[in-house]
Amino acid sequence: MTEDTNKAVWVVAEQDDGTLHDVGLELLGKAAELAEQIGGTTAAVIAGADVAPLADPLIAHGAETVYTINDERLATYTTLPYARAIADLAREKRPEIVLFGATMLGRDLAPRVASDLQCGLTADCTDLKIGDYTDTRTGTDYKNLLYQIRPAFGASIIATIVSPDHRPQMATVREGVFPLLDPDESRTGEVVEVEPTLTDEEMVARVIDRVTEEKAVNLKSAQVIVSGGAGVGSADNFKLIRELADALGGEVGASRAAVDGGYIDRDHQVGQTGTTVRPKLYIACGISGQVQHRAGMQEAGTIIAINNDPDAPIFQIAHYAIVGDLNEIIPKLIHAYKSKA
Ligand SMILES: Cc1cc2nc3c(=O)[nH]c(=O)nc-3n(C[C@H](O)[C@H](O)[C@H](O)COP(=O)(O)OP(=O)(O)OC[C@H]3O[C@@H](n4cnc5c(N)ncnc54)[C@H](O)[C@@H]3O)c2cc1C
Repeated sequence: MTEDTNKAVWVVAEQDDGTLHDVGLELLGKAAELAEQIGGTTAAVIAGADVAPLADPLIAHGAETVYTINDERLATYTTLPYARAIADLAREKRPEIVLFGATMLGRDLAPRVASDLQCGLTADCTDLKIGDYTDTRTGTDYKNLLYQIRPAFGASIIATIVSPDHRPQMATVREGVFPLLDPDESRTGEVVEVEPTLTDEEMVARVIDRVTEEKAVNLKSAQVIVSGGAGVGSADNFKLIRELADALGGEVGASRAAVDGGYIDRDHQVGQTGTTVRPKLYIACGISGQVQHRAGMQEAGTIIAINNDPDAPIFQIAHYAIVGDLNEIIPKLIHAYKSKA
């Protein structure tokens, strides 16, 4: 199918030095689902200096059309030229929905594009759906709107936000919220080369140097995560969490209370303002299970919770509940695992 511009679901994909960011690929899987529901098509938009080779992986992940915006001046991300190029393309093609990853780049770029197009934008969505809406003030019925779903008011409620009157409907979505589906190399799609019109005005910012720091922890792709919370009690006692993670070959995660308590670095935080994870196994130790923590780990394949409070909310989503003192239970788990391994 070629792209029906009025019903297209776009994903603005990200790349760095020719490597695609996972979040764009995750979003393409969701875009295909949304497009099917509104009877539309999917497209990816990718900008940079030499992005043509990235069209194939984007098609394999579900893009029916890939817009490649190639320009030497887009080699390194800066806000204005990227925003101009994408907004101009959207003005011409009039997509129904445009999705961005809620990455540093996406959080910078999406508001600029939205403001240029004068449409709404919901940041940091944790889910997207298609649904109808009736404006009770005017009695107007709207069909097939994008429900932009995210926690609001300190995560005390889950808000569903719609943009009934303006197009495109735009949202940024957190990494890891949607699964990264396997690519299908047999898929075919159309590649459309786009020549951006950039003026000196957009090129006011120049990147002189870039310093990248490798993340010490890779929670997103970990298959096993052992997380500690305030119940661990101290930075020193966090070695128990590391020992269990090491024994299982997993990564160390943490609740925000553990991070705020100085037990562990912020890179390890799981949850609404940390990383969203989907490991096969998640072991929550001394974590109460507040909604902001659960938002980042409830899609784990198996959840084991260790907590000395039998009424801790974490037990509502745990597949296995161990009620007791983590200081006694974790050494027993390590011993049991090592003696069987
Ligand atoms: C806008 C916003 C964003 C947030 N983002 C995040 C986020 O990304 N991630 C996140 O985690 N939180 C986040 N929070 C904070 C969240 O609301 C909770 O405060 C936090 O998750 C609590 O961490 P905790 O479960 O470790 O601590 P607590 O709630 O204090 O729970 C500690 C638990 O340990 C148990 N315990 C104590 N001693 C032991 C023991 N010896 N053995 C076994 N169990 C024991 C207790 O019974 C208790 O259940 C956010 C909050 C807000 C308002």
